[in-house]
Amino acid sequence: MLWPMARAAWDGLRLRCPACRRGSMARGALGLAERCPACGVPFEPEEGDFIGAMLVAYSVTAVLVVAGIYLTAALTDLGPREQLLIWCGFGAAFIVGTYRNMKGAWVGILYAMTGLRRDGR
Ligand SMILES: [Zn+2]
Repeated sequence: MLWPMARAAWDGLRLRCPACRRGSMARGALGLAERCPACGVPFEPEEGDFIGAMLVAYSVTAVLVVAGIYLTAALTDLGPREQLLIWCGFGAAFIVGTYRNMKGAWVGILYAMTGLRRDGR
């Protein structure tokens, strides 16, 4: 159960269809396609399913920001204000820059847990 979920999440993170591993999830510069162009699996199966994607994005960002704060506190002489500026900026840029990939990872996790059907239900 864990391996198929990790594989599907990895495929989604790389914006590859978790079902066929051939079709691209990407649409345009920032968007996510509604369906796989190769096999037809829906990428946005139900309204509200992307709350999980937000959870994934915020969780990954929080772990990176906290780890970064500890590392810079241990390795540099930066004060709390500089740290706050750096890591708030990093966190905001990271979420914006990787949100589509996090959404893809969430689609992969959903696919592994439920199996998204071709008719979208
Ligand atoms: Zn596909």
